[in-house]
Amino acid sequence: MTIPRKDQPSDGKTNLVGLTRDALRDALVSIGTPEKQTKMRVNQIWQWLYHWGVRDFNAMTNLSKDYRAKLADAFTITLPEVVSRQISEDGTRKYLVRIAGGHEVETVYIPEEDRGTLCISSQVGCTLTCSFCHTGTQKLVRNLTPGEIVGQIMLARDDLEEWPEPGVGTGDAGPRLLSNIVLMGMGEPLYNFEAVRDAMKIAMDGEGIALSRRRITLSTSGVVPEIARTAQEIGCMLAVSFHATTDEVRDRLVPINKRWPIAELLDALRSYPKASNSERITFEYVMLKGVNDSDEDAHRLIKLIEGIPAKINLIPFNEWPGAPYERSSKTRIRAFADIIYKAGYASPIRTPRGEDIMAACGQLKSATERARKSRAQIAAEVGNS
Ligand code: SAH
Ligand code: SF4
Repeated sequence: MTIPRKDQPSDGKTNLVGLTRDALRDALVSIGTPEKQTKMRVNQIWQWLYHWGVRDFNAMTNLSKDYRAKLADAFTITLPEVVSRQISEDGTRKYLVRIAGGHEVETVYIPEEDRGTLCISSQVGCTLTCSFCHTGTQKLVRNLTPGEIVGQIMLARDDLEEWPEPGVGTGDAGPRLLSNIVLMGMGEPLYNFEAVRDAMKIAMDGEGIALSRRRITLSTSGVVPEIARTAQEIGCMLAVSFHATTDEVRDRLVPINKRWPIAELLDALRSYPKASNSERITFEYVMLKGVNDSDEDAHRLIKLIEGIPAKINLIPFNEWPGAPYERSSKTRIRAFADIIYKAGYASPIRTPRGEDIMAACGQLKSATERARKSRAQIAAEVGNS
């Protein structure tokens, strides 16, 4: 049985959102668009979708009425649905987004003084079981499609009213409200590589949303074989969930370490910046009281990353119901940051945002997918990974 998908509606129409330029061209050819017109038509429709944010074929005024009708017969422009929006005291917005099959993911918008970052999800749940992460307690339900991934950017732009208005402006003036993307929501982006790549290609395309590759950061728990591919095929900035300085501790915190231990991960990272022209890798390091936050850890970390252009982002642990860890104290985090800073690395301490609405790092988990993994299942997955 095929399950009807919201972004590929059951009326047989193809959703244009999330198609690569090549796939869009194929779609237009399939409705009889003459070959020699396809390049121009792709450009026109692409701009309507991703530059102007238009959702109605009738508004595509540089296309003939007949052609617009033909498009509307065969295609839709469909985004995932925003079920609810919560706004934190600090301005952070959390969207609960429903995708086909009734599943839900969360998307978080974090406004800052001179920019705004959208934290997007790539999977419903996660196959991995990092022991400090709320999403890790939720089973993987499915991978998101490219349309559902880029759709999160589009629905946030809708909510922020950031699409330019035809005839009024191009939207290029002034800092953007949504200026940066981080793939740090639910899921492991490198276990959904093709969909993430296609969605990010759309977000980076200069004729549309046009976010530079330097403003997109993909965070991985350390899927080593996909790291080189990320450099070659996406070319965005990379963050890695490092979190520990010995294999013994990292095995416990980030179980994928059993498959690709610290030394192998570091080898892959050493070749990343050159390949993608990114200046620095971000090492994410969650501060867990008494687990990974000692001075010795800080010194070990510096030794491990020697030679890698790096920034170390210290994340105070964000609690969630039933979490088996505590956040390190402020003085401990500062002392840790100081050691790293003195070794010549930027070591910003991430301010938790949107904690009051459970929107902070690692707190995301959809309310409809509460099924907790059993201990046996977690053990089996760790063993297999
Ligand atoms: N799956 C990817 C991206 C999503 S997690 C990854 O693991 O990198 C985004 C970041 O938040 C990761 O560095 C993750 O380790 C961190 N994180 C997870 N749970 C957290 C928590 N409870 N408190 C603070 N950071 C957490
Ligand atoms: Fe998955 Fe990342 Fe959470 Fe680990 S930290 S369980 S990889 S979402």
